Amino acid sequence: MRKIILALVGVMVLAGCCKQAQPEGVQYGFVSISDVIPDVILDIRYYGTYNFVGAKVDGYNEPIALMTGVAADSLKSVSDELLAQGYRLKIFDAYRPQRAVDHFVRWSKDVSDTLTKAYFYPELAKDRLFPEGFICARSSHTHGSTVDLTLFDMNSGKEVDMGGTFDWFGMSSYPTYTDLTEGQLAMRQLLRDAMMRHGFKPFDTEWWHFTLQDEPYPDTFFDFPVERKSIVR
Ligand SMILES: [Zn+2]
Repeated sequence: MRKIILALVGVMVLAGCCKQAQPEGVQYGFVSISDVIPDVILDIRYYGTYNFVGAKVDGYNEPIALMTGVAADSLKSVSDELLAQGYRLKIFDAYRPQRAVDHFVRWSKDVSDTLTKAYFYPELAKDRLFPEGFICARSSHTHGSTVDLTLFDMNSGKEVDMGGTFDWFGMSSYPTYTDLTEGQLAMRQLLRDAMMRHGFKPFDTEWWHFTLQDEPYPDTFFDFPVERKSIVR
């Protein structure tokens, strides 16, 4: 009997050893934002070519938005509040793998490639983007609790006018920029107030960028790809 029990324990230990490691996104509690907030509109720019790189960015294998579960839950509260006022959240990016950030840096150092200049940085020389902090070697998006978003107006059926577009490299992207119409300022304020009421903090240089104040992994630079496999057991 004793031998049988020992054998059984041995099998259990072996089974434990051989068990497949869970995908990193599962281990760390990441979710797909659309699973938590079905009403969200996704426009995952780094999966396509309508972004400052002008090409699909490394690590974006599917057009989905991943985030830590706690951040997604807080974003759900923002969405519920704004839906009641006639707006949906439109998300451009959330969790971003380190390999994507590395791709941005590589792109910024190739000054001969100015394919997207007219759309994203007409006022700046490309070799200023990295020194002036528009492109950085580290991003809070890599910690998994940051999101880039705007509002979609259900009455007009259009994205709201924020007086500037996502990933525009210039002063008008600063939340402190005030040379805007009353309507534009009001829309920026509406988004910012709702995000802050539900635990997100704004960012100095981008009106569309918010990070969960109590983010669970402030010092971890994740690198698993943006794809459903990363969050499925
Ligand atoms: Zn951002």
